[in-house]
Amino acid sequence: MSLIRCRGLCKDYVLGEETVHALAGIDVDIAEGEYVAVMGPSGSGKSTFMNLLGALDVPTAGHLELAGVDIGTLDADRLAELRNRMLGFVFQQFNLLPRASALHNVRLPLLYAGQAGADWEARCRRALERVGLADRLHFLPNALSGGQQQRVAIARALVNEPKLLLADEPTGALDSRTGAEILDLFGTLNAEGVTVVMVTHDAQVAARARRRLEFLDGRLIRDLRGGAEDPRNLLAGARP
Ligand code: ADP
Ligand code: MG
Repeated sequence: MSLIRCRGLCKDYVLGEETVHALAGIDVDIAEGEYVAVMGPSGSGKSTFMNLLGALDVPTAGHLELAGVDIGTLDADRLAELRNRMLGFVFQQFNLLPRASALHNVRLPLLYAGQAGADWEARCRRALERVGLADRLHFLPNALSGGQQQRVAIARALVNEPKLLLADEPTGALDSRTGAEILDLFGTLNAEGVTVVMVTHDAQVAARARRRLEFLDGRLIRDLRGGAEDPRNLLAGARP
């Protein structure tokens, strides 16, 4: 069974008289354990795709299944529950609460999930250890470097032990050396069994990922595995 299954996934944005077809029919399957790089020029629909995968937004048409669950059938509460249990999201901007310590930032998803039980601190500590920040638990974001802040954001995404980690340009705000360390971390998490789908402009990242999806104008124009194009996932319209 695929962890992610998209069929005819569309997203339109209506702006006054104009409709933007941000996604114009995406068919793709992603299996548990994959490490997928999502690429394409600015405006090609990458973030829209990620937001749909993350159940942060709903499609205009088409189907999306996460772990066999058709998310179109879920009400807001069940969607939030599935998001909390299954998904971690990492953005280019770290989106940390400035007045909360690393530990308390990582705790947020547990509060949203109503899981602020007695073991919260041990769980948050474990997530921060996993990203190499065991010695920074009580630091505020502004006392941490950019790379450390992004690690806190990754720990926050991991605290519910999600199967799927979605990252939209997670190294976009970092210098290249720090970015490379963050990418190593994603590689390690994937090796530990977390499925990773990551938007990146960096060809080196794409080279590490075993699969690359390329978007153009809201369509998936290429699906490459280990450098070879996979005919199973190509849209009919994208074939020469
Ligand atoms: P990418 O992440 O590849 O740069 P996006 O998914 O952000 O692309 O955007 C795809 C298209 O959808 C673009 O034309 C963009 O302007 C448009 N778009 C994205 N989000 C919105 C929105 N909230 N409202 C209107 N148009 C949007
Ligand atoms: Mg984007």
